[in-house]
Amino acid sequence: MRFTWLPVAILLALGFSAIIGQQFPYLAGGWRYVAAFAFVVAFTLSVLLHELAHALMALRFKISVTEINLGFFAAGTHIEGERKSPLEEFAISVIGPIASLLVGGAAYLGSRALDEGVAYVVVVQLAVANLIVGVTNLLPGLPLDGGWVLRAFVWKLTGNMHTGTIAAAWAGRVIAIAVLAAPVILEEVFGRNPTLIDFVVALAVGFFLWMGSTASLMQARLKRKLPALQVRALARRAIAVHAGTPVSEAVRRAAEAQAGAVVVIDGDGKPHALVKEAAVTAVAPNQRPWTTVGEVATRISAGHIIGVNDTGEEILGTLRKNPASEYLVLDTHGQVYGVLATADVEQAFRSR
Ligand SMILES: [Zn+2]
Repeated sequence: MRFTWLPVAILLALGFSAIIGQQFPYLAGGWRYVAAFAFVVAFTLSVLLHELAHALMALRFKISVTEINLGFFAAGTHIEGERKSPLEEFAISVIGPIASLLVGGAAYLGSRALDEGVAYVVVVQLAVANLIVGVTNLLPGLPLDGGWVLRAFVWKLTGNMHTGTIAAAWAGRVIAIAVLAAPVILEEVFGRNPTLIDFVVALAVGFFLWMGSTASLMQARLKRKLPALQVRALARRAIAVHAGTPVSEAVRRAAEAQAGAVVVIDGDGKPHALVKEAAVTAVAPNQRPWTTVGEVATRISAGHIIGVNDTGEEILGTLRKNPASEYLVLDTHGQVYGVLATADVEQAFRSR
């Protein structure tokens, strides 16, 4: 939970106290704020329960969980690694909404035992909110939990995980469009006049869903291409030079060796810096004989090294964690193999 939680919670509680005032007019002014704040706290805890349910189920299948994010609008559990079977996927995804529905049901039953007062208001609101969270999360489209459930079913039926992702992502887009159109549909079907707030909420939620399903779709396409992403095929051949070498000389040697990259080595032959393409271009041709590669090279940090046998997934992980235009590729003995340019990786993804 980040420290920004409290101000957001107070803002939400302030907004929510107005709703409570409308729905429970018998509650006195001050108590509305108390009820609203208690609701925000209780609701946050129930979202935590929903996420914990996902996380515990993942751990049960020995899939590690790195992070539970408790945003008010987009809570999420970051589950590392792939689900190994449709059944695991189904269980991990469906358990969150089930937890919400159980909390909602329990809160509803609890409310029936209470007299109308602050506690009653909080518990009723908690029931409604959790039932809404449980039901909407079961809608069968990514990025919602129900989308993962749908993915598990399609995966089971077709035997292909990627087909499952693509089907569930498209279903997510359909849901996003339905949400965007919801105010108009409500007007046509139920004759209910949509308010400005209806449109704003529909726009925000629909946009969030559309972005989420699109991201899932891109990821599925990416993952499908991962096996084709091989360092050996994509790495540029590199020449090794010492820091004192003039840029013009390094460029000449690279051209001679038909190499696409220049790596700077120290006295022991260890690579320690990369001469990026952009850095060479930035030096005017007539300055190149007077500029050393050491002056334009970029030091290599551990995060910018890729092993020649790294898998497609590992490469993407490195690219994501330590964004750069070029990476040093080392062979299994720690010697310079070449340089992997991010542009070449992107090109590989586009071309296939
Ligand atoms: Zn969930």
